[in-house]
Amino acid sequence: MNVHALARPEILAMRPYASARGTAAADGVLLNANEAPAALSDDPAWAEMALHRYPAPQPDDLVRRLAAVYQVAPERVLVTRGSDEGIDLLTRVFCRPGQDAIVECPPCFGMYRVAAAIQGAEVIAVPRDDGLRLDVAQLERTIAGTDGPDIKLVFLTSPNNPTGDLLPRRELLRLLAACGDRALLVLDEAYIEFCDAASATDLLDDYPQLVILRTLSKAWGAAGLRCGALLADPAIIELLGRVMAPYPLTAPAIAAALAVTGPGGRARQSRMLAAIAAQKDRLVSTLAGRDWVERTWPGEANFVLARVDDGPGLVAHCASSGVRIRDFSTTPGLANCVRISIGTSEDMQALATALDGWPQARDGSGNETRATS
Ligand SMILES: *Cc1c(COP(=O)(O)O)cnc(C)c1O
Repeated sequence: MNVHALARPEILAMRPYASARGTAAADGVLLNANEAPAALSDDPAWAEMALHRYPAPQPDDLVRRLAAVYQVAPERVLVTRGSDEGIDLLTRVFCRPGQDAIVECPPCFGMYRVAAAIQGAEVIAVPRDDGLRLDVAQLERTIAGTDGPDIKLVFLTSPNNPTGDLLPRRELLRLLAACGDRALLVLDEAYIEFCDAASATDLLDDYPQLVILRTLSKAWGAAGLRCGALLADPAIIELLGRVMAPYPLTAPAIAAALAVTGPGGRARQSRMLAAIAAQKDRLVSTLAGRDWVERTWPGEANFVLARVDDGPGLVAHCASSGVRIRDFSTTPGLANCVRISIGTSEDMQALATALDGWPQARDGSGNETRATS
């Protein structure tokens, strides 16, 4: 597969910015980047980080660490400021404004569409069915279609946000075949650690059209770091690097990412995942016992989607009790649906208390409305 045939011609033609740290080793006497000679802090932690220096664009140790975590070769790793940056880079490198398109399967993560809009790429939606299941046959037909804009990126999410369902391996293989050498299949695995299913990273060697997005934001408990990895064919990584900011990662973020994924990290993660799974089971059974819950999609991630009697009302009621849950009522196909993330046992206790008060609050406010109208 020739990924250069898919990329925007401007990106292929441009000469990327050559940064000091990107073009020379960071050893010896460093007088090539107009940096200050020292950091203005006495804190040894800052000194150790060499805060006065531009960090490596792709720090070797972090690339190797994430390659080990995700079990891929280091050449296949692009460390990003979270998956949001990966989505943005892919769209900018592969989608010609006004000519190319992305495919998404709503309801899904909102950033695919936003990145496409910013780039001027068309969004072709292949909506999920009434049971919120992926329409794989329609996806195959859409990808194979020859009229309309050129499809460059097919965004799939496993487990999906907000529906929580996995993309089974056999369906992924069908869709990889449909993409062939005409489009990239971008598999967003932001939540894969929360379930038993295997990541698709083992397919990268055989499918150069496959791009996988991973993140430290969810199952590594580090959303504040803004750090993730895009895993792909080295030719794709090279193209994305042309568009990426010269120094995307901050020195504190690099240090923290190494610490989070370092010694003891896996054990800490396992404990957290087990605690989340236990709290999630409890939430699912609590919801099952409430007559105002019409349906739940427990899914495979660290959240539960539920259709209730009055989604916006419930979200407002919970907020008045100091608990924030997410309203999806205005998303097509998700009328009166709310998404609840799994927190600590204290968080979930506060939620349960708020949920206990919902029927009364709902009926009370209903009476009020009648009384005043
Ligand atoms: C939360 C989430 C992400 C994470 O994005 P980051 O930029 O890495 O924080 C990516 N994809 C999906 C579907 C998500 O829900």
